[in-house]
Amino acid sequence: MPLENAITETAISKAIVESYYRKLADRIESDVIIAGAGPSGLVAASCLAGAGKRVTIIEKRLSPGGGIWGGAMGMNQVVVQKEALPILEAACIRFVPQDGLYVADAAELACGLCIQALRAGAVLLNLVTLEDLCVRDNRVTGIVANRTTIAGALPVDPLVLSAGAVIDATGHDAAAVQHLRKRGLLDAALAPGEGPMYAAAGESFVVERVAEVYPGLWVTGMSVCTTFGGPRMGPIFGGMLLSGKRVAEMILAR
Ligand SMILES: Cc1cc2nc3c(=O)[nH]c(=O)nc-3n(C[C@H](O)[C@H](O)[C@H](O)COP(=O)(O)OP(=O)(O)OC[C@H]3O[C@@H](n4cnc5c(N)ncnc54)[C@H](O)[C@@H]3O)c2cc1C
Repeated sequence: MPLENAITETAISKAIVESYYRKLADRIESDVIIAGAGPSGLVAASCLAGAGKRVTIIEKRLSPGGGIWGGAMGMNQVVVQKEALPILEAACIRFVPQDGLYVADAAELACGLCIQALRAGAVLLNLVTLEDLCVRDNRVTGIVANRTTIAGALPVDPLVLSAGAVIDATGHDAAAVQHLRKRGLLDAALAPGEGPMYAAAGESFVVERVAEVYPGLWVTGMSVCTTFGGPRMGPIFGGMLLSGKRVAEMILAR
């Protein structure tokens, strides 16, 4: 049978629409929602989904990977320290040693972390922006989400996705944290923004200060620095990966 006979435009559209809305309907409730598909969010997703949790990642951009892609100044190489190598190895990401550090290809890291999270069972909804949080009885119970192309641009209501825990992995924005802060639900001293560059201190900070900042809302990755005023660390990614692992371990322990 000629290939084109099996193809109709209506069949293509139907396949996309029906499968997408099945996926979305299935994710109206999750164990954990992760806002942001950067390095910390993707590692957290793999760990949590690998432990059997229903994990949904929402990402406001088209592509997952966050700040990984650009390396530094657009040079798409990624530097990590040895403590993070088990995470690279688990995701089959290659690296080479250099001057006591290790270098990986940025595209391989972004793709590798993403495929690992998806194969562990996490579901990614891209072009979806966290617009707000749901809070009930002093606990975050889910997120308010909208299409990125709609959020803030058109007077269109969002949808709510519910979860037992929400992780703010939105990087410098700390978007979820900021929503609570502006409503006075967090200590006013929180979220002062990140401090000046100090790579070694920032790398430790981003792992050690992973926390549940409000019942049901956790921070990981660069959001930790924004939330607690930690130093920025520039283009080294081991701390981000380990921060994602730590938040997953803390949620699982809970
Ligand atoms: C523009 C830029 C500036 C950087 N500056 C610094 C710096 O000053 N200091 C430093 O130490 N490192 C910096 N980095 C380096 C490094 O990329 C980050 O430290 C690292 O990527 C942070 O990892 P993360 O997982 O915390 O978040 P990111 O890699 O930033 O990923 C966050 C993800 O969340 C998504 N997102 C954001 N808001 C929302 C929302 N409301 N809803 C849904 N998704 C959302 C973003 O699109 C992104 O994909 C920068 C990177 C970039 C891209």
